Amino acid sequence: MNILVLGAGQLARMMSLAGTPLDLVTLAYDSSSGNVIDPVSFKQYDMSLQDAIIWADSITAEFEHIPLDVLALCQASKKFYPGAEAIATGGDRAKEKALLDEANVPSAPHCLITERTHFDQAITSLGYPLVLKTCQAGYDGKGQWRVKEDSNVEQIWSEMSEFLSRGNAQQPHAILAEQMIKFDREVSIIGARGKNGEVKIYPLTENQHTNGVLTLSVAGKEKPDIQSQAEEAFTKIANALDYVGVLAVEFFDVEGDLLVNEIAPRVHNSGHWSQQGAHTSQFENHMRAIAGLPLGSTTLLRPTAMINVLGEKEIPKEVLAVSDVTSHWYGKSSKPGRKMGHINVSGNTLHDLGEKLAELAEILPEERYPGVLDTAKSLILN
Ligand code: ATP
Ligand code: MG
Repeated sequence: MNILVLGAGQLARMMSLAGTPLDLVTLAYDSSSGNVIDPVSFKQYDMSLQDAIIWADSITAEFEHIPLDVLALCQASKKFYPGAEAIATGGDRAKEKALLDEANVPSAPHCLITERTHFDQAITSLGYPLVLKTCQAGYDGKGQWRVKEDSNVEQIWSEMSEFLSRGNAQQPHAILAEQMIKFDREVSIIGARGKNGEVKIYPLTENQHTNGVLTLSVAGKEKPDIQSQAEEAFTKIANALDYVGVLAVEFFDVEGDLLVNEIAPRVHNSGHWSQQGAHTSQFENHMRAIAGLPLGSTTLLRPTAMINVLGEKEIPKEVLAVSDVTSHWYGKSSKPGRKMGHINVSGNTLHDLGEKLAELAEILPEERYPGVLDTAKSLILN
């Protein structure tokens, strides 16, 4: 069976690697260059997008900011999963909030801004501090402002109005104002929904961000109560979208109550641990779902942590000497801050995982791999 992925980065690459043993052949469409490539070898094929759509039995995406014309072509083929509506919802915070409200899933208090009066109303109704997010085209914390007091308002409004004015009738721009949530931590849940509506959900993952980018995730330390809250939200969202494939839901944990931060209609960085921590990785389950195959087990095999490798030229080879470590390199050219690869490490217990992270912390300097030592200490102590 042939699979076409929109987007040719590491997520497409890992989907391809997971699909190969299932006899799934994957090509990727790089929408920035317009080329069709093999996402593992980067070999370029002499194929147009239209050719690739005809070649494919099933089409999916590794990111949500897909050009509208590409999205329309894929949707018209009737082979596209999770489908244009789910992708559009993940790529537009206004649509996303409307879905959450409709599905009755709690998220941060919010309102939509398309003109100055809305901004003033947002300040009055939500109060300071406020987080403002562009509804379109934000990722890794980009396209966001924080307003703490009146003196910030005019400067931020000038930047906001510039963004709003860049919209047009076909693609109007809007900004979402959200109350700044005092959360204890950030967690996310990944799950898969099949073509027959079957849902399988992974254990919750705790995520650490540094400068708005995910740096470290740990799976396997959550209590049943919080897991069931997350699963309930996941299931409501996946069913509301009639979703097919892997979906990620990010949450703020506020004293044990989960508020949805955002959703991602795709495999997600916070689910990379599943390559070693579960029998079926998120990549394999995504491929199974879109190929109409039964979903695989999402049960935790062992507590597992994922460390992102950002802006490096390689993954230090010494990490491989630590037991139960797997290195995942994406084969991209290095740029500061760019996601270049990740390291997964598993333990027999949380304590054991902590000890392995402590070993890794001796190899991975804190300034380039933040949080490894602190996470090790907290797992060892608990
Ligand atoms: P990514 O693509 O990495 O998920 P993003 O650009 O889509 O990021 P968000 O996830 O919405 O943006 O926000 C990035 C980070 O900013 C969050 O992980 C969280 O730490 C913080 N943040 C976002 N919204 C709020 C809020 N309402 N209150 C407090 N912190 C917030
Ligand atoms: Mg996010």
